[in-house]
Amino acid sequence: AKTIVAFETKIAEIQWSKVELRDPIKAYNKVSIDKLGELMPTYDWNAYIDAIGGVKGKVDYVIVSQPTYLKALDKLLAETPMETLKPYFEWHLLHNAAPYLSKQFVETNFDMYGKVLGGVTEMRPRWKRGVTATESALGEPIGKVYVEQHFPAASKARMEELVKNLLTAYKQSIDKLTWMGPETRKAAQAKLAKFTPKIGYPNKWRDYSKLEVKRDDLVGNVLRSNAFLVRRELDKLGKPIDRDEWGMTPQTVNAYYNPELNEIVFPAAILQPPFFDPNADDAVNYGAIGAVIGHEISHGFDDQGAQYDGDGNLRDWWTARDHKNFEKKTKQLVAQYNAFSPVPGYKVNGELTLGENIADNSGLAIAYKAYKISLKGKPAPVIDGYTGEQRLYQGWAQAWRAKTREAAMIRQITTDPHSPEEFRANGTLRNQPGFYDAFKVKPGDKMYLAPKDRVIIW
Ligand SMILES: [Zn+2]
Repeated sequence: AKTIVAFETKIAEIQWSKVELRDPIKAYNKVSIDKLGELMPTYDWNAYIDAIGGVKGKVDYVIVSQPTYLKALDKLLAETPMETLKPYFEWHLLHNAAPYLSKQFVETNFDMYGKVLGGVTEMRPRWKRGVTATESALGEPIGKVYVEQHFPAASKARMEELVKNLLTAYKQSIDKLTWMGPETRKAAQAKLAKFTPKIGYPNKWRDYSKLEVKRDDLVGNVLRSNAFLVRRELDKLGKPIDRDEWGMTPQTVNAYYNPELNEIVFPAAILQPPFFDPNADDAVNYGAIGAVIGHEISHGFDDQGAQYDGDGNLRDWWTARDHKNFEKKTKQLVAQYNAFSPVPGYKVNGELTLGENIADNSGLAIAYKAYKISLKGKPAPVIDGYTGEQRLYQGWAQAWRAKTREAAMIRQITTDPHSPEEFRANGTLRNQPGFYDAFKVKPGDKMYLAPKDRVIIW
């Protein structure tokens, strides 16, 4: 075990940090297949390409995200003895299979990855682990059943309406932005007009007929399923891009923006409380799912997404002046989040979480505007003694309620590009002018920030 940890530590040391990897231009290095050998002269790339199959002759080049890593890895591999490499790969095989082997393997694996690294005291019940395993192998067929049973057409229609209003709010905001010049604004409008929303579930379902499932062979099923997924990816080589493809299953409570297709994707399962409640009033839903929609659209304009154009090409469409203005705001945001400490002695990484923090702050600001648009000039109704604006911010805060153990929190702030939920809720609210109006926040209040310290992007 010590040998393996020592070797893995060396591998980790020569890799780029998560912050470095956030730069899409730095991580985009075209290398022709026959030049791969120059990066790693002692590694037999031809043998590798032959072994995976289905690649030879189909691609001329690959994108290497960390060229310096490959060079250093080549050196490391050359100086590492076979007595280290063999157990290293044996361990990888065991580690990946452990959750599906007999009790002792399952429990030992949980002791390390659940207890030590996550602070979890109890393993999830067997049936839940069964659902997770089945989902990762057969996500879309399960999603099809989920959608039939839990996703009414009315939810899809309300979501389409929300997305439309959020896009309208962005369109109006772009024209009013003071820190963006007319040229960049025009390009931003062009990009916004090309956004593709996907809601609920895919237009066409994946074909799983080639995946063999055996009732009495769990580990075999997992291995065949992994191989099936890898084959599916490799089969795409040389073919046109499938724009109907989904990167999440319908039963996933999440959403994403994909800069390469300039699309925002909302799986059916996020359309339930606390994000979306068909029985709640609009204010609450705009503060929750509305801000999530705004969040995903904003990824198209965050420090990473802004480097792609409306067609998904990595291309700079910003003027130098506007770049600078944007950077001034994002630097302030980095400093704000760097100061948050969820566990004594540990701080949020403002650089790692920058894109997500931009998206949270922008998403909520735009949701507020979209809610106003939805009112069509009428005043918001007062319900249970709360104004519409108050309910909107309550909807936002309620969506981010969470409970996390200390060990899991430490792991989260080290690896997750999202800020901990507490700061997604409160860190964002402090920058919203509407929040100060809604709750009459004044100097001396815990969440008060002087106007000059508030970061307002949208
Ligand atoms: Zn995000």
